Amino acid sequence: MRTINHFIGGRSVTGGDRIVPVYDPSVGQIQAEVALGRADLLARAVDDARAAQPAWAALNPQRRARVMFRLKELIERDMDELAHLLSREHGKVVADSRGDIQRGLDVVEFACGIPHLLKGEYSEGAGPGIDVYSMRQPLGVVAGITPFNFPAMIPLWMLAPAIACGNAFILKPSERDPSVPVRLAELAIEAGLPAGILNVVHGDKEMVDAILDHPEIKAVSFVGSSDIANYVYGRGAAAGKRVQCMGGAKNHGIVLPDADLDQAVADIIGAAYGSAGERCMALPVVTPVGESTAALLREKLVSEIARLRVGTATNPDAHYGPVVSAEHKARVEAYIAMAAAEGAEIVVDGRGFELQGHEEGYYLAPTLIDHVTADMRSYQDEIFGPVLQILRAETLEEAIGYPSRHQYGNGVAIFTRNGDYAQRFASQVEVGMVGINVPIPVPVAYHSFGGWKRSGFGDLDQYGMDGIRFYTRGKKITKRWPSGGAVVDQSFVIPTMR
Ligand code: NAD
Repeated sequence: MRTINHFIGGRSVTGGDRIVPVYDPSVGQIQAEVALGRADLLARAVDDARAAQPAWAALNPQRRARVMFRLKELIERDMDELAHLLSREHGKVVADSRGDIQRGLDVVEFACGIPHLLKGEYSEGAGPGIDVYSMRQPLGVVAGITPFNFPAMIPLWMLAPAIACGNAFILKPSERDPSVPVRLAELAIEAGLPAGILNVVHGDKEMVDAILDHPEIKAVSFVGSSDIANYVYGRGAAAGKRVQCMGGAKNHGIVLPDADLDQAVADIIGAAYGSAGERCMALPVVTPVGESTAALLREKLVSEIARLRVGTATNPDAHYGPVVSAEHKARVEAYIAMAAAEGAEIVVDGRGFELQGHEEGYYLAPTLIDHVTADMRSYQDEIFGPVLQILRAETLEEAIGYPSRHQYGNGVAIFTRNGDYAQRFASQVEVGMVGINVPIPVPVAYHSFGGWKRSGFGDLDQYGMDGIRFYTRGKKITKRWPSGGAVVDQSFVIPTMR
């Protein structure tokens, strides 16, 4: 049985007495195991990180950027291997795994610009003989805790800016698909990153608590479900750390009567069922405005769903693969049953699907549910599976209200040809990331990613300039050089520049 080790101080490290299996969701079998570490292992990683960080931070930023350039090249070199490794543990199809890696690679590319990104500001003559300038300095040792659903992209969102800024980084990836994060750390060493600057420790709640309690970890970035995000935010902040936590989601796609319906349907199908719906920017709710839009949309969705192919992660013809685990499959099925019990109409039922030859895999066929209402728990909760719910609205205002009042506020999309409606929607909707005829509006690497309400805790988003701010502290310097003239009088009044 393959064992997935920790990666500390530039080396593969064993440790941890709680061994858990890592499954291949396509076949429903154990393919590897990982040992979950505790506080002692974390302490070792923090010691190595602390020892290495000052010299790394002291390198000029151009030299740190060169390591990022090289890391980008190595990830591109190994793209195929990484994508297959990712698909085997996660279950998403290989083409989608490439996208997962590429989205993380975009942030590595962004971090290649670190000399420019770290430049401060300078004001000459802010007062008599006084100049003011600012600089950004790394925090020291920082940590990231990541979910199962993007095992390349989300670790790279965090580690690329953190390291480029001059920090040492400790990554605690999901224990469900931990191999790719370890490979990324190995590639970083090959790229020339000094040992100790990037460490990977495996674990569950115990390791997370150890990270939150360790006094030498100055900042924690978390992405995962909302209850845990809230917990991590509270415990980390109480310990005096800088914390950013991204949580769950329930993104709505609003379809106006004037939308290009065929294009909207193609977009919605891909965003709802791609990656088996296991994306925080998936589109699990569609809100047609007006009865005739709803009827037409439903008809087109049903016919497109009939063409979807579910298959193993390595089947190039499959649109999507299995969900991540048997427990998660059961949870999604329970939500479909709940929706029916709550009075919604199960138009297409994906339960009970078995993939021929892979009956043990965790597959679900696509599900479509109509006549969903806002008081249903199956609507209020995140399902995180290949399930699309139709929540009908009569007016644009009503359609803006649903995502605005929802507990989550990650992403939302509107499909329309009307610029005025789209603009009104984008300005009024209480959601952090808005797509206009774009179903999955994940901002590019040089903007920042983050949702509102229970989708995001903390005030700085992931990557972009927020990422640089999160992993650095701003220092402001006010300076005056003695001119050799008369002594400036003592003053017992707060200095002003007047
Ligand atoms: P999860 O919350 O179960 O796990 C996330 C991380 O927390 C993992 O590293 C896990 O080991 C750790 N963890 C698990 N239980 C814990 C506990 N009790 N205490 C402390 N730490 C614990 O999430 P998941 O199932 O891996 O990922 C799916 C979730 O992540 C979904 O809710 C999805 O919407 C969300 N997500 C959000 C974003 C975003 O940017 N908003 C992006 C991707 C995923």
